[in-house]
Amino acid sequence: MQAEWSGLDRYYTAALQVEDSALNSALSANAAAGLPAQDVSPLQGRFLHILARLMRARRVLEIGTLGGYSTIWLARALPADGRVVTLEANPAHADTARANLAAAGVAEKVELREGPALDSLPLLAGGEPFDLIFIDADKPNNPAYLEWALKLARPGAAIVGDNVARGGAVANVVSQDPSVRGVRRFLEDMGAEPRLTATALQTVGVKGWDGFSIAIVNEMA
Ligand code: SAM
Repeated sequence: MQAEWSGLDRYYTAALQVEDSALNSALSANAAAGLPAQDVSPLQGRFLHILARLMRARRVLEIGTLGGYSTIWLARALPADGRVVTLEANPAHADTARANLAAAGVAEKVELREGPALDSLPLLAGGEPFDLIFIDADKPNNPAYLEWALKLARPGAAIVGDNVARGGAVANVVSQDPSVRGVRRFLEDMGAEPRLTATALQTVGVKGWDGFSIAIVNEMA
């Protein structure tokens, strides 16, 4: 089925005119620098962009920059005074991202913090809260990222988690895969959290069979 999923994704991408030269250049630069092709797909990037615009987001937090492909999509959704704070542990990924963000003309809207996200997140506490948080880094730490997201998000904010299906492996109760276990705990923590209303959607496409979760931070009475 992968050929059909990819074929339909390619059709959607072309019909909806989702790609442009800056985005494609970022992907080419990532490949040239030897980064893993773990970016969101063009259609997923456009989805994040639309979500940010629907929410009129001004402050976005991204955990897991890679080469900045999703960061470009998010930054483009923001008003002139908007900001994406993006966290990346790998210095080579961060270097490539900085170059891609500058080439795409969004560098002034992005603050890239280099280092393990769990070191950077406490430094964001006490600052302006975030409207949208995109969690897309090391999955074993997803439960910890969720705890930080709850501290850093405003009421009404959205928290999006990527790769929550993993080819269906996330349904495996006895999986010993640390990423699967991290995603399962992340989902179950969201389900049990009264401050959140969450859902998860499976997706197929150029990235295979995967999915994303989306939660809204409830406005508590
Ligand atoms: N969001 C990116 C996109 O769609 O273009 C893809 C991010 S990629 C799936 C995950 C990134 O998280 C990698 O660049 C990896 O180096 C980074 N990462 C892994 N562990 C991390 C950690 N503990 N702190 C910060 N970044 C981390």
